[in-house]
Amino acid sequence: MRERHIRWIRNAKVEDGVMHVLELDEDGKEKKRHEVAFKYSMMLPAFKGIDAVFGIEWLTNPRGFITIDAHQRNKAFPSVFAVGVCEAIPPVQATPVPTGTPKTGYMIESMVSATAHNIRSLLEGKDPTETATWNAVCLADFGDTGITFVALPQIPPRNVNWISEGKWVHLAKVAFEKYFLRKMRAGMTEPVFERLVMKALGITKLKKP
Ligand SMILES: Cc1cc2nc3c(=O)[nH]c(=O)nc-3n(C[C@H](O)[C@H](O)[C@H](O)COP(=O)(O)OP(=O)(O)OC[C@H]3O[C@@H](n4cnc5c(N)ncnc54)[C@H](O)[C@@H]3O)c2cc1C
Repeated sequence: MRERHIRWIRNAKVEDGVMHVLELDEDGKEKKRHEVAFKYSMMLPAFKGIDAVFGIEWLTNPRGFITIDAHQRNKAFPSVFAVGVCEAIPPVQATPVPTGTPKTGYMIESMVSATAHNIRSLLEGKDPTETATWNAVCLADFGDTGITFVALPQIPPRNVNWISEGKWVHLAKVAFEKYFLRKMRAGMTEPVFERLVMKALGITKLKKP
């Protein structure tokens, strides 16, 4: 954002209508009021769970996300598993304006892998044992450039933290999209060579027992 002359205000609440921004201090108390002129604005409201599950006691947290155990399974409703954005993950750190924990594609694939293995175990009369790594490998496209990162696991403390930026990321994302859609259409979610390459890089979906 600095490179594109975009200014930011941290820890802010935005009121309806005009862009009156209320900046908070570390304790969540009012620090400064801003009135920001803008031609184009984008606001990301706090995430919440869908109405269908919101407020179901023991199934969701106060924000409507499904609570899970180490095997992606809800403790009160054992036939319910949750994967992806709908699952409850505690915030990484306390912030004056409450924030959620980011979830990305590969991390979610790891949740899905663990869930699929665990449902199979249940069908075979065994206990679920698989735990997702929540590892993250991400190509973030910015249009003409991009950022790629590997975060193992995504939620700190991390064992691996690697980031790279450049036009090549944009091209890599275009190539990856074609590759990803092709393998999904062919019903091959994880071809053998992909698994071997990722394993060689130390990026796996399931935690070692
Ligand atoms: C702008 C943006 C850029 C991103 N870029 C990246 C990236 O570069 N790399 C990366 O790894 N991740 C990226 N992510 C994150 C990633 O896209 C998400 O984490 C991922 O798509 C979440 O998958 P999900 O299946 O949990 O949820 P979703 O993909 O949101 O799927 C949920 C589905 O449920 C449906 N739904 C909602 N309510 C109901 C209902 N009541 N009944 C039935 N269906 C319902 C929705 O229509 C939707 O299809 C990005 C996210 C955003 C928003």
